Amino acid sequence: MTDDELIAETRAFLAANWAPGRKSSGEAYGRHPDSDFLQRVLDAGFAVPTWPRESWGRGLSAAQGKLIEREFAAAGAPGAGQDRSNLWANTAAAHAQPDFRSHIVPLLLTGRVGMCLLYSEPGAGSDLAGVRTRADRDGDDYVINGQKVWTSGAADADYGMLICRTDWDVPKHKGLSFFFLPMQQPGIDVRPLRQITDEAHFNEVFITDARVPAANMLGKPGDGWRVLMTALAYERSVMGDAARGPRSGKAGPKGDAALVELAREAGMLEDPVVRQEIARVTAYKILNRLNNARAKADMAQGNSSPIMSLGKLAMSRILHSEAALRTRLLGPQSMLEGPQHPCAEDANFLTLNAYFTSIGGGTDQIQRNIIGERVLGLPKEPELDRELPFREVKAG
Ligand SMILES: Cc1cc2nc3c(=O)[nH]c(=O)nc-3n(C[C@H](O)[C@H](O)[C@H](O)COP(=O)(O)OP(=O)(O)OC[C@H]3O[C@@H](n4cnc5c(N)ncnc54)[C@H](O)[C@@H]3O)c2cc1C
Repeated sequence: MTDDELIAETRAFLAANWAPGRKSSGEAYGRHPDSDFLQRVLDAGFAVPTWPRESWGRGLSAAQGKLIEREFAAAGAPGAGQDRSNLWANTAAAHAQPDFRSHIVPLLLTGRVGMCLLYSEPGAGSDLAGVRTRADRDGDDYVINGQKVWTSGAADADYGMLICRTDWDVPKHKGLSFFFLPMQQPGIDVRPLRQITDEAHFNEVFITDARVPAANMLGKPGDGWRVLMTALAYERSVMGDAARGPRSGKAGPKGDAALVELAREAGMLEDPVVRQEIARVTAYKILNRLNNARAKADMAQGNSSPIMSLGKLAMSRILHSEAALRTRLLGPQSMLEGPQHPCAEDANFLTLNAYFTSIGGGTDQIQRNIIGERVLGLPKEPELDRELPFREVKAG
């Protein structure tokens, strides 16, 4: 199929299925309000066009996939480009066992299941290979016991992507397994935590004798670290690509135009230092877009690209710089808050929410370690417990 034929087919699909000017309210933790439309996108082969035909795709090149995404973006329609952005579906498609894969991937691609990430624990965040939540085999199931924390979206989730320990007698990276854990069961107690932005998306999750079928394991027993690396690469790629904007959405122009407008209103548009700062944030954004395109081309070849860490780190820097600049332009006004002061509310929300990107999905410091070791080839950080059987690793 030529590019022109593909564009024409995509436009015809959108004209028949998506009302002009309609807005999609977007995905939250896997679940999507437009799941019926997403089903049609999937049936038409536009959801994951670079995947093979026998796996919900059309075997197209990454460049042709991009053409479809561009048409969907122009129409404001959701559901295209999930071969690059849907971390849940990509992880399951790459590693789930055949029957579970056939069941779960279409549900994930049509936004019909709520999801969360059960990775961090009170004693294991940056050092995720140190998790102590355990899975013990019992017939056709595993029984899970432990505690997770900072779990975004856990309250409404149908499944959690869980990293836990199945073997305590091998070194820490080798004894891990990865599951799709059903969340709606008696052994799972979810308790909300309030964030600095006053929202309560994240939670503590206490797991006591919860059960998960062995068929829900991704990869093999002990293969969990490898599966986790795929999932983290997709998460970082999403976080490096985009971030939440201002919460109120009422404060006039968005993005780079918003900074110029704020500077004009503050009478500082002619200030050379302010102009330089606006140019710096804008340049970071453009560079980051280019870098992410490079990393995604790498991922399309099946590599879990360490360049993703660069994109996520850059996005963290962009968000902190933009928030600081907005605060500076508002001056004392930035101390106001509430619906009567949308500009100040936006600046404050962006300042606080920037930490989502600089901590969630692995901190800035961890991204720097990955770039140092895996992109620049610098010597690895010493890790004294790396080769010890996990049972002998000291905790606390
Ligand atoms: C908004 C948000 C949403 C989140 N959502 C989820 C979620 O859905 N699921 C989930 O499982 N987790 C989630 N997290 C948790 C997040 O992944 C962890 O907070 C993060 O990985 C850091 O772990 P930690 O908090 O245990 O900090 P620690 O690992 O204790 O780190 C503390 C400090 O030490 C630094 N540090 C640690 N090790 C090193 C090192 N080797 N080299 C240099 N510096 C180091 C860190 O950079 C950090 O500054 C979320 C976090 C945030 C902020």
